[in-house]
Amino acid sequence: MPELFLTNSLSRRKERFTPLDPSHVRMYVCGPTVYDLAHLGNARAMVVFDVLARLLRALYPRVTYVRNITDIDDKINTRAAESGEPIGAITARTTADFHADMAALGVLPPDVEPRATGHVPEMIEVIERLIASGHAYAAEGHVLFAVASFSEYGRLSGRSPDELLAGARIDVAPYKRDAGDFVLWKPSTPDQPGWDSPWGRGRPGWHIECSAMSWRYLGETFDIHGGGRDLIFPHHENEAAQSLCAFPGSHFARMWLHNGMLLVNGEKMSKSLGNFFTIRDVLDRAPAEAVRLLLLRAQYRAELDFSDVALAEARKELDRFYRALERHPDAVAGAVPEPVMGALCDDMNTPLALAALHALADAALAGEADAAAGLRASGLLLGLLGADPAAWFRGGADGAEIDAAIAARLAARKARDFARADAIRAELAAKGIVLEDGPGGTTTWRRAS
Ligand SMILES: [Zn+2]
Repeated sequence: MPELFLTNSLSRRKERFTPLDPSHVRMYVCGPTVYDLAHLGNARAMVVFDVLARLLRALYPRVTYVRNITDIDDKINTRAAESGEPIGAITARTTADFHADMAALGVLPPDVEPRATGHVPEMIEVIERLIASGHAYAAEGHVLFAVASFSEYGRLSGRSPDELLAGARIDVAPYKRDAGDFVLWKPSTPDQPGWDSPWGRGRPGWHIECSAMSWRYLGETFDIHGGGRDLIFPHHENEAAQSLCAFPGSHFARMWLHNGMLLVNGEKMSKSLGNFFTIRDVLDRAPAEAVRLLLLRAQYRAELDFSDVALAEARKELDRFYRALERHPDAVAGAVPEPVMGALCDDMNTPLALAALHALADAALAGEADAAAGLRASGLLLGLLGADPAAWFRGGADGAEIDAAIAARLAARKARDFARADAIRAELAAKGIVLEDGPGGTTTWRRAS
């Protein structure tokens, strides 16, 4: 079995991955806060950790991948107050949208997808442990984590206590002992969602949700915790502080993995710059598989620049891969060739793996059936090339609609209405559909590349 190396944000080094239990690898990744459509930055994190889950499953006999749904959050409450839509309707609709986006991008469902609303008792239990051990205190209906009680606070993000306080000094709530203390529980007004607790009716803070759900499904210490780099501080720093203090002697996540930022046209995605895109926006104008491939063209820790040019390139790459597969229709996926596996085991070097896929495509196009089998297997490991090549070349087009247009054109030709037949062909061409008339009056079609 090849050895897997991953960069641990905690040590800031590439380390050999050694699971606590080699017969059962356990990973937690922070999932979406369900108040709006997921954006491209979310898509990158979900695709990166989907590839890691697939790789772990290829290497180890059992993997438990937990990715939560944050359905208790003030952003959701604000959205409900603004729109008048009930909270439960917003979270149900947004969760369904997220699942549809993930399915389109080829992101497999995690093994467990806990929702915060289903785990409030566990959150209360973790908070009670923190109070009992002197790491948290209740004040005015709130419960706060006492940052000064934990000497390792700041270790994951690499921030010193002074730095941490500098950002927190403005508008410090009067019930806080220290400016950096963060909320574990807060009171709810009657119009806000709330749960009964020893500190009154209220709701959990975001960070405690992940500490409680990872503990519930993966235990006090598990192998990998992942998320976007923007979550390192405060979210992951606070998760680690809570869990390490609530469960003395545990290690929480032994390895922390963080994916880099996604840029759009070289700039940070923002609504004010007009370069903010939801996954839906992009799926409307490109095949989902091209979006997925684009998201894997940079190594996960590097910045990734999303642009129309890059999207067109990703589409061309897939055209090439599918042409290679089309040449060998009988090639079934075999073992993943070493150059691809080796690249992925070296800190998930997906650009190097994709280069190896191109070498396989070269060989397959030159006639080597084994290379096509290796290409198919490598694609599947990356969550790519699962389609029938013919279906890919028709991609994005509505097959039934085109078949109907072809039938109408054939009828027009039979009626010797050639002007009508040519008009139908031109309409399809305008949509990027090329008709190819074969022998015996058959007509096939493919997407223009
Ligand atoms: Zn989290």
